Amino acid sequence: MSKVHVLEHPVIQHKLTIMRDKNTSSAVFRTALQEISMLLTYAVTQDLPTTLREIETPLQTMQAPVIDGKKLVLISILRAGNGILDGMLKVLPTARVGHVGMYRDHETLQAVEYYFKVPKHMEDRHVIVTDPMLATGNSAIAAIERIKQTKPLSIKFVCLLAAPEGIKALHEAHPDVEIYTPAVDECLNEVGYILPGLGDAGDRIYGTK
Ligand code: URA
Repeated sequence: MSKVHVLEHPVIQHKLTIMRDKNTSSAVFRTALQEISMLLTYAVTQDLPTTLREIETPLQTMQAPVIDGKKLVLISILRAGNGILDGMLKVLPTARVGHVGMYRDHETLQAVEYYFKVPKHMEDRHVIVTDPMLATGNSAIAAIERIKQTKPLSIKFVCLLAAPEGIKALHEAHPDVEIYTPAVDECLNEVGYILPGLGDAGDRIYGTK
């Protein structure tokens, strides 16, 4: 069974509350998402491999650890995943980036792929998949299935809110994929939205409603 890391840090929780509030503007929502994503990056990269590079401090030469950013791929599930991606790229500017286009069929709630672009040589890379809302889990499961065809070294999943139903579904489909989230909410409503949630993440990021 894969792990769920619930990041209950007060700073993350405070910003999440701002994002849940329906009176928060898109501009403030985007900023808070970017800030939370930077903090999530710290947790999700905790066991990232480093190599030693020789550098000179003002006093002497030393072997100092560096992350090989090119080995790391951040893959956003479009379009809301880009909100998390933007924040993570501020912390990991040399990471490679991929995109998976998935839309949710509002009748069946199933994920339908319309775009897939990732860097070459995925077999040498660690992947972090981003999508703010782990609701039914259908998009995440389908995106990860597709990404697995490229045979990356590892895959982690980062979201902003998770529903128990989505966690269970993702666990069952991909038990090897660890989940990082600031909160696990109560349940899904009849149309697959997370309760209490924060509404439609894409609409709230981009002001499309
Ligand atoms: N997608 C969203 O944007 N919000 C939800 O609550 C569920 C899926």
